[in-house]
Amino acid sequence: MVTHAHIDHWGGAGALLEKLPNAKLMVHPRGLPHLANPERLWKQSKDVLGEIADLFGEPQPIPVGRLTLALDGLVVDLGGVEVQVVETLGHSPHHVSYFERNSRSLFPGETAGMYIEGLDAIVPATPPVIVLDKLFNSIERLITLKPEKIHYTHYGPADNAVEKLRAYDKQLRIWSETINESLRNNETLADIIERLRERDPYFNKAYYYVIAHPIIGHALNSIIQGFIVE
Ligand SMILES: [Zn+2]
Repeated sequence: MVTHAHIDHWGGAGALLEKLPNAKLMVHPRGLPHLANPERLWKQSKDVLGEIADLFGEPQPIPVGRLTLALDGLVVDLGGVEVQVVETLGHSPHHVSYFERNSRSLFPGETAGMYIEGLDAIVPATPPVIVLDKLFNSIERLITLKPEKIHYTHYGPADNAVEKLRAYDKQLRIWSETINESLRNNETLADIIERLRERDPYFNKAYYYVIAHPIIGHALNSIIQGFIVE
Protein backbone atom coordinates (compact mmCIF):
# COMPACT_ATOMS: atom_id res chain seq x y z
CA MET A 1 0.00 0.00 0.00
CA VAL A 2 1.73 3.09 -1.30
CA THR A 3 0.85 6.48 0.23
CA HIS A 4 2.14 8.57 -2.69
CA ALA A 5 4.37 8.49 -5.74
CA HIS A 6 7.51 10.18 -4.33
CA ILE A 7 10.46 7.82 -4.83
CA ASP A 8 11.34 7.45 -1.14
CA HIS A 9 7.86 5.99 -0.58
CA TRP A 10 7.69 3.32 -3.28
CA GLY A 11 11.02 3.18 -5.14
CA GLY A 12 11.86 -0.31 -3.83
CA ALA A 13 8.44 -1.77 -4.63
CA GLY A 14 9.39 -3.13 -8.07
CA ALA A 15 12.20 -5.22 -6.56
CA LEU A 16 9.86 -6.38 -3.78
CA LEU A 17 7.12 -7.42 -6.23
CA GLU A 18 9.61 -9.66 -8.05
CA LYS A 19 9.98 -11.65 -4.82
CA LEU A 20 6.22 -11.64 -4.12
CA PRO A 21 4.61 -12.98 -7.31
CA ASN A 22 1.00 -12.82 -6.00
CA ALA A 23 1.21 -9.34 -4.50
CA LYS A 24 -0.39 -6.24 -5.94
CA LEU A 25 0.47 -2.65 -5.22
CA MET A 26 -2.15 -0.07 -4.27
CA VAL A 27 -1.72 3.59 -5.28
CA HIS A 28 -3.79 6.76 -5.83
CA PRO A 29 -5.13 7.00 -9.42
CA ARG A 30 -2.93 10.07 -10.12
CA GLY A 31 0.13 8.18 -8.85
CA LEU A 32 -0.45 5.14 -11.06
CA PRO A 33 1.13 6.58 -14.25
CA HIS A 34 4.30 7.47 -12.30
CA LEU A 35 4.68 3.92 -10.96
CA ALA A 36 3.99 2.35 -14.35
CA ASN A 37 6.46 4.66 -16.08
CA PRO A 38 8.77 6.34 -13.56
CA GLU A 39 11.14 7.95 -16.09
CA ARG A 40 9.83 11.53 -15.70
CA LEU A 41 9.48 11.21 -11.93
CA TRP A 42 13.07 9.98 -11.70
CA LYS A 43 14.31 12.95 -13.70
CA GLN A 44 12.35 15.37 -11.46
CA SER A 45 13.67 13.60 -8.35
CA LYS A 46 17.24 14.01 -9.62
CA ASP A 47 16.61 17.71 -10.26
CA VAL A 48 15.15 18.32 -6.79
CA LEU A 49 17.22 15.92 -4.68
CA GLY A 50 20.52 15.79 -6.60
CA GLU A 51 22.86 13.10 -5.22
CA ILE A 52 20.33 12.15 -2.54
CA ALA A 53 18.16 10.61 -5.29
CA ASP A 54 20.99 8.15 -6.01
CA LEU A 55 20.81 6.95 -2.40
CA PHE A 56 17.28 5.76 -3.14
CA GLY A 57 18.18 4.53 -6.65
CA GLU A 58 16.20 4.59 -9.87
CA PRO A 59 12.81 2.89 -9.39
CA GLN A 60 11.83 -0.10 -11.53
CA PRO A 61 8.57 0.37 -13.45
CA ILE A 62 5.61 -1.59 -12.01
CA PRO A 63 3.60 -3.63 -14.56
CA VAL A 64 0.13 -2.03 -14.85
CA GLY A 65 -1.55 -5.40 -14.21
CA ARG A 66 -0.04 -5.46 -10.74
CA LEU A 67 -1.32 -2.03 -9.76
CA THR A 68 -4.65 -1.47 -8.04
CA LEU A 69 -6.34 1.83 -7.20
CA ALA A 70 -6.40 3.36 -3.71
CA LEU A 71 -9.84 4.97 -3.96
CA ASP A 72 -11.09 7.19 -1.13
CA GLY A 73 -13.34 5.25 1.28
CA LEU A 74 -12.31 1.80 0.07
CA VAL A 75 -11.85 -0.71 2.91
CA VAL A 76 -9.46 -3.59 2.32
CA ASP A 77 -9.91 -6.66 4.54
CA LEU A 78 -6.56 -8.32 5.09
CA GLY A 79 -7.91 -11.23 7.18
CA GLY A 80 -9.24 -9.25 10.13
CA VAL A 81 -7.03 -6.24 9.55
CA GLU A 82 -9.36 -3.67 8.02
CA VAL A 83 -7.56 -0.90 6.21
CA GLN A 84 -9.50 2.15 5.05
CA VAL A 85 -8.17 4.36 2.28
CA VAL A 86 -8.38 8.10 3.04
CA GLU A 87 -7.52 10.54 0.26
CA THR A 88 -5.22 13.16 1.81
CA LEU A 89 -4.02 15.57 -0.87
CA GLY A 90 -1.81 18.57 -0.22
CA HIS A 91 1.67 17.13 0.33
CA SER A 92 1.36 15.82 -3.21
CA PRO A 93 -1.50 15.52 -5.75
CA HIS A 94 -1.47 11.72 -5.41
CA HIS A 95 -1.48 11.17 -1.65
CA VAL A 96 -3.61 8.79 0.42
CA SER A 97 -3.34 7.74 4.06
CA TYR A 98 -4.31 4.34 5.47
CA PHE A 99 -6.32 3.78 8.65
CA GLU A 100 -6.50 0.39 10.34
CA ARG A 101 -9.90 0.45 12.04
CA ASN A 102 -9.56 -2.26 14.71
CA SER A 103 -6.38 -0.90 16.28
CA ARG A 104 -7.21 2.74 15.30
CA SER A 105 -3.77 2.97 13.71
CA LEU A 106 -3.03 5.67 11.18
CA PHE A 107 -0.42 5.49 8.42
CA PRO A 108 -0.33 9.11 7.24
CA GLY A 109 2.59 8.97 4.77
CA GLU A 110 3.77 12.58 4.78
CA THR A 111 0.43 14.24 5.56
CA ALA A 112 1.39 14.55 9.25
CA GLY A 113 4.97 15.80 8.76
CA MET A 114 8.12 14.06 9.95
CA TYR A 115 8.45 12.87 13.54
CA ILE A 116 11.79 12.76 15.34
CA GLU A 117 11.09 10.19 18.02
CA GLY A 118 14.00 10.73 20.40
CA LEU A 119 13.23 14.47 20.54
CA ASP A 120 9.42 14.17 20.43
CA ALA A 121 9.49 16.84 17.70
CA ILE A 122 7.64 17.30 14.42
CA VAL A 123 9.21 18.90 11.33
CA PRO A 124 7.26 19.94 8.20
CA ALA A 125 7.37 17.65 5.15
CA THR A 126 6.60 20.32 2.59
CA PRO A 127 8.71 20.28 -0.56
CA PRO A 128 7.35 22.43 -3.42
CA VAL A 129 4.70 22.20 -4.69
CA ILE A 130 2.48 21.62 -1.64
CA VAL A 131 -1.07 22.96 -1.56
CA LEU A 132 -1.57 24.21 1.99
CA ASP A 133 -5.39 24.50 1.93
CA LYS A 134 -5.69 20.91 0.79
CA LEU A 135 -3.16 19.82 3.39
CA PHE A 136 -5.16 21.48 6.20
CA ASN A 137 -8.34 19.73 4.98
CA SER A 138 -6.50 16.41 4.87
CA ILE A 139 -5.21 16.80 8.44
CA GLU A 140 -8.77 17.62 9.55
CA ARG A 141 -10.06 14.47 7.82
CA LEU A 142 -7.48 12.38 9.68
CA ILE A 143 -8.44 13.97 13.03
CA THR A 144 -12.12 13.04 12.43
CA LEU A 145 -11.12 9.36 12.26
CA LYS A 146 -9.99 9.62 15.93
CA PRO A 147 -6.81 7.59 15.44
CA GLU A 148 -4.87 6.48 18.52
CA LYS A 149 -1.50 5.36 17.14
CA ILE A 150 0.23 7.18 14.32
CA HIS A 151 2.90 5.44 12.23
CA TYR A 152 5.12 8.02 10.56
CA THR A 153 6.97 6.99 7.41
CA HIS A 154 9.63 9.42 8.62
CA TYR A 155 10.16 7.96 11.34
CA GLY A 156 8.24 5.34 13.29
CA PRO A 157 5.25 4.87 15.60
CA ALA A 158 3.92 7.32 18.21
CA ASP A 159 0.96 7.65 20.60
CA ASN A 160 -1.53 10.51 20.96
CA ALA A 161 -2.21 10.69 17.23
CA VAL A 162 -4.89 13.40 17.37
CA GLU A 163 -2.74 15.68 19.52
CA LYS A 164 0.16 15.25 17.06
CA LEU A 165 -2.04 16.00 14.05
CA ARG A 166 -3.26 19.19 15.74
CA ALA A 167 0.32 20.15 16.58
CA TYR A 168 1.30 19.70 12.92
CA ASP A 169 -1.61 21.86 11.75
CA LYS A 170 -0.43 24.59 14.14
CA GLN A 171 3.18 24.22 13.02
CA LEU A 172 2.24 24.61 9.34
CA ARG A 173 0.40 27.85 10.16
CA ILE A 174 3.41 29.22 12.08
CA TRP A 175 5.78 28.37 9.20
CA SER A 176 3.50 29.79 6.53
CA GLU A 177 3.02 33.10 8.38
CA THR A 178 6.66 33.43 9.45
CA ILE A 179 8.22 32.62 6.07
CA ASN A 180 5.96 34.90 4.04
CA GLU A 181 6.26 37.75 6.55
CA SER A 182 10.08 37.46 6.45
CA LEU A 183 10.09 37.47 2.65
CA ARG A 184 7.95 40.62 2.58
CA ASN A 185 10.60 42.20 4.82
CA ASN A 186 13.40 41.05 2.45
CA GLU A 187 15.00 38.87 5.13
CA THR A 188 17.58 36.21 4.31
CA LEU A 189 17.24 32.45 4.63
CA ALA A 190 19.33 32.57 7.81
CA ASP A 191 16.89 35.15 9.28
CA ILE A 192 13.93 32.96 8.35
CA ILE A 193 15.47 29.95 10.09
CA GLU A 194 16.19 32.07 13.17
CA ARG A 195 12.58 33.30 13.32
CA LEU A 196 11.23 29.78 12.88
CA ARG A 197 13.37 28.67 15.83
CA GLU A 198 11.98 31.51 17.94
CA ARG A 199 8.35 30.81 17.07
CA ASP A 200 8.21 27.02 16.69
CA PRO A 201 9.35 25.12 19.81
CA TYR A 202 9.34 21.78 17.91
CA PHE A 203 11.67 23.08 15.22
CA ASN A 204 13.91 24.67 17.82
CA LYS A 205 14.18 21.31 19.59
CA ALA A 206 14.90 19.49 16.33
CA TYR A 207 17.17 22.13 14.76
CA TYR A 208 20.59 20.49 15.30
CA TYR A 209 19.21 17.08 14.37
CA VAL A 210 17.75 18.54 11.17
CA ILE A 211 20.87 20.34 9.96
CA ALA A 212 23.08 17.30 10.70
CA HIS A 213 20.69 14.88 8.95
CA PRO A 214 21.99 13.85 5.49
CA ILE A 215 18.55 14.03 3.87
CA ILE A 216 16.42 16.45 5.96
CA GLY A 217 19.33 18.89 6.31
CA HIS A 218 19.78 18.92 2.55
CA ALA A 219 16.00 19.32 2.04
CA LEU A 220 15.49 22.19 4.54
CA ASN A 221 15.69 24.96 1.90
CA SER A 222 13.18 23.18 -0.28
CA ILE A 223 10.88 22.53 2.75
CA ILE A 224 10.91 26.30 3.42
CA GLN A 225 10.29 27.10 -0.27
CA GLY A 226 7.17 24.92 -0.13
CA PHE A 227 5.48 27.64 1.97
CA ILE A 228 6.16 30.57 -0.33
CA VAL A 229 2.96 32.17 -1.56
CA GLU A 230 3.61 33.78 -4.96
ZN1 LIG B 1 6.60 12.92 -0.30
